[in-house]
Amino acid sequence: MLQEIAKNVFVEQEYEGANVGCILTEAGAVVIDTPMVPEEARHWAKTVSELTDRVLYVFNTDHHRSHILGNQFFNAPIMAHEAAWKEMANYKDTFIERTKNLFKKRTEVQKQLDQIRIMKPELAFTGRLIMYKGGREIHFVHFGGHTPATSGLFLPDERILFTGDLVVVNEHPALGQCNSEEWLAQLRWLRRQDFAVMVPGHGPLCNVDDSEPVSEYIRALRSKVRSQYKSGRTKAEAAVVISQMIDFFTYRPGEKSLIEKRIRAGVSRVYDEMKAVYGNG
Ligand SMILES: [Zn+2]
Repeated sequence: MLQEIAKNVFVEQEYEGANVGCILTEAGAVVIDTPMVPEEARHWAKTVSELTDRVLYVFNTDHHRSHILGNQFFNAPIMAHEAAWKEMANYKDTFIERTKNLFKKRTEVQKQLDQIRIMKPELAFTGRLIMYKGGREIHFVHFGGHTPATSGLFLPDERILFTGDLVVVNEHPALGQCNSEEWLAQLRWLRRQDFAVMVPGHGPLCNVDDSEPVSEYIRALRSKVRSQYKSGRTKAEAAVVISQMIDFFTYRPGEKSLIEKRIRAGVSRVYDEMKAVYGNG
């Protein structure tokens, strides 16, 4: 259900994959992320069209499928961090095919995905971009950490932060493309800020303290992978960490293999980080 969390600031948390948002200005709307299931993306576009007749920009908080695949249903330029633009510029048809594999048992979703084209950003930023438009001030802020592209959106008047996947609540964060130290540093920074509300990439609305479990998770995974690495285990052997991490957050029964895959990607990434720090010795 669409929630108005402050005047003209909307959040929808019901779609599969990620939270999405919409900020209204007097000149039109800024949309934050688009669902990956095409029917839900269409629904999101319709919901937005009932709020405004003009979308100024669609902002992608990173380049992962759950944030970008519905872009084409909005008649507006896409904006994202430069690193997201670079990733998305390289997406091939195989990206859609791999997405279809996630919906093996849902042929109707697979069929809809055949209609999807990747809409790349037309506007890319680095660091911070501030938009003054339609009586509003909107800050687009780069975080990194989760991916080199990960960014958020900050509304200074309401002190609302859309965190992108820098913060996820009650679920396993995805470390497959992360810089884990940078991620921890950004979360520490976050917890020194004073936000009224945070909209995480996934999960319920939260405050800065609710980002602590993500930090704990990253620290735990780093320390387990580090000890594997330092004891001379190969990356394949370090996969024992998957079973040590899987109960860190609960997951739905049907999701187990998906979550294992997510943790495996994180273990692999962090293993490479440890190798870069400690070398081959
Ligand atoms: Zn992501």
